Amino acid sequence: MDDTLLLVHTEADGSLAKIAREALGAARSLGGSLTIGLVGGDAQAAAGSLGGCGAARFLGASGEMFRQPRYATDAAAAEALCRASGAQLILAPATSRWARVLPGVALRLGGRVDTHATRVFPSEGAPAIARWYYRQRMEAVLLRPQRPWIVLLEAGCHPAWTGAPASAALENVPVDLPEGAIRTTVNGLRAPQAEEQTIRPEADLLFVAGAGWTKKQSDGATHADDAERLILEFLRRTQASLGGSKSLVDLSGEGQAVLRCMTHLNQVGQTGATPRHPKGLSTCCHGEEPHVVGWRFIGERRAVNLDPNCGWARGKADVLYIADAFEVLRRINALLGEKTQATRA
Ligand SMILES: Cc1cc2nc3c(=O)[nH]c(=O)nc-3n(C[C@H](O)[C@H](O)[C@H](O)COP(=O)(O)OP(=O)(O)OC[C@H]3O[C@@H](n4cnc5c(N)ncnc54)[C@H](O)[C@@H]3O)c2cc1C
Repeated sequence: MDDTLLLVHTEADGSLAKIAREALGAARSLGGSLTIGLVGGDAQAAAGSLGGCGAARFLGASGEMFRQPRYATDAAAAEALCRASGAQLILAPATSRWARVLPGVALRLGGRVDTHATRVFPSEGAPAIARWYYRQRMEAVLLRPQRPWIVLLEAGCHPAWTGAPASAALENVPVDLPEGAIRTTVNGLRAPQAEEQTIRPEADLLFVAGAGWTKKQSDGATHADDAERLILEFLRRTQASLGGSKSLVDLSGEGQAVLRCMTHLNQVGQTGATPRHPKGLSTCCHGEEPHVVGWRFIGERRAVNLDPNCGWARGKADVLYIADAFEVLRRINALLGEKTQATRA
């Protein structure tokens, strides 16, 4: 197996994100010699948190100028760590910080880069990766003869390493920073406007709301206020992550907001997101292919729809309840409320 460098960076609070620990889990599963390269304000503290992982070396680009994401400093630090490690395979979590920088680093090193990898594994003594194409419809396995090979591993694809912290001897790697490298500073973060944070990548359940919530119901009227109240109560009680069909999020964009907490970032599907959750529950959504293709990485799928001929009935869901989602959610919320009261008593 190739010698591997795991390249991670610290978060704003100095910790390492779960996705970094997942990439570490994947790197360890490869066998072969492992070096960890850390970039951040205090790489020594971060190295200690991974101290028990069995890496042969810990290399660091540490200091105030590496605390914030910045192309010039991140690229220089990553390049220096890659060169110092001499590794042929460089594995990194697919954070936005690394996704922006590492393709450029591959060019500087005369190597190659692959993004959106979902697996990395040994194949006849060499590393191989898997990734999906055509919006998760086809999976390919890739091998490359060129080295160094940088691979960005997606979140939620490998169990995170959960070992205990231990002392780690960090070797500080000098980084040659070009003039003007720290001209850019991050002044703040701007998040999309939403009354409530509803996208929870770590949640066990993805709850999807479709346009049916806005349609005329059996009494000939629409019940958007009811829909919003029921859905928000369900989300609060379960801490599920909220997804939407394109039809529903487009309605929000047109100013007919049904769910004020729903933005285009919630859209699941071909032109939306492909989130990873163990379970998914779709409600009032037809289950058309461009939507369901975003469910590729949902473990167990259930749907509630009035129409027994909806798309979910055609092998796209494990369980389809032919039922009125308003009634179903009302009942589930009541049961969840009883459960909370019983826990308190
Ligand atoms: C190029 C392209 C890309 C696309 N990308 C995406 C994408 O990324 N994501 C996406 O979602 N779509 C995408 N679409 C659109 C997609 O094809 C569908 O139009 C969309 O998913 C339909 O949304 P919906 O199922 O919520 O709405 P509808 O098709 O209107 O379905 C509403 C459903 O609600 C049910 N319903 C109504 N009332 C109730 C009730 N009380 N209880 C239970 N069920 C009820 C109805 O039976 C119906 O099945 C794309 C389309 C194209 C052409």
